[in-house]
Amino acid sequence: MSQTTLETISIHAALSVRLAEVRRRIAQSSERAGRSPDEVRLIAVSKVHGAAFIDEAIRAGARDLGENRVQEASEKRELLKNTSGVRWHLIGHLQANKARRAVQTFDYIHSLDSDALAARLDRLCKEEKRRALSVLIQVDLGGEATKTGAHEGELRAIVHTVRQSENLRLAGLMTLPPFFDDAARARPFFRRLRELRDELRAQNLFAEKDEHGFGDGELSMGMTQDYAVAIEEGATIVRVGTAIFGVRPKTN
Ligand SMILES: *Cc1c(COP(=O)(O)O)cnc(C)c1O
Repeated sequence: MSQTTLETISIHAALSVRLAEVRRRIAQSSERAGRSPDEVRLIAVSKVHGAAFIDEAIRAGARDLGENRVQEASEKRELLKNTSGVRWHLIGHLQANKARRAVQTFDYIHSLDSDALAARLDRLCKEEKRRALSVLIQVDLGGEATKTGAHEGELRAIVHTVRQSENLRLAGLMTLPPFFDDAARARPFFRRLRELRDELRAQNLFAEKDEHGFGDGELSMGMTQDYAVAIEEGATIVRVGTAIFGVRPKTN
């Protein structure tokens, strides 16, 4: 057996073990919170990693991939175009000039953060003949410490624009709290996002679940450091990179 084959096998084995471990912890946290583990979806955050490595993760069972850069994701998706049944999620800030490529590349956008971006995405969906693009509004609950996402005060207007649009479906909310060494300190941020979701849901402002089960007020929150806490606070989507793929190489 060649060296390459052996390496491929051990990469596959390592990814399978880590995915299983993350799923086990998801189940454990769900049970602790009195929730069904089926309510929590795992996004494997594959940003920075190469297509071959991601391909192994798909073979090991990853079905939802999270990326934070449009161009990078677009190139990787092209390389992995023969893998079916995989959904690509944009979880990083979306610049207006990358919006068209984002519409062409992603199945879900978690980082909708302005009214203007919502209007632009709607128009681009029309031009690209994309009938229903599911979006989550990213809410900035961390103030100065995070500075990514829409402020709570802007949420209503964005919801309104998405609801008025022809091609966008409002699937849920997303947040990225400031980093804390002690994950429990992220809890108030997760709780606040859930309250905002509950208010919108009480007014029937979310789209129904789509064919993949996404919609109806998803809460996209929690990463390697704090996903257990996020699940206790109601997360329906966790975005986990490091615990699956290992520490990311530094990029600049
Ligand atoms: C990178 C990233 C993640 C995953 O982070 P890990 O700590 O590697 O699990 C989750 N969400 C967003 C928005 C990210 O940019």
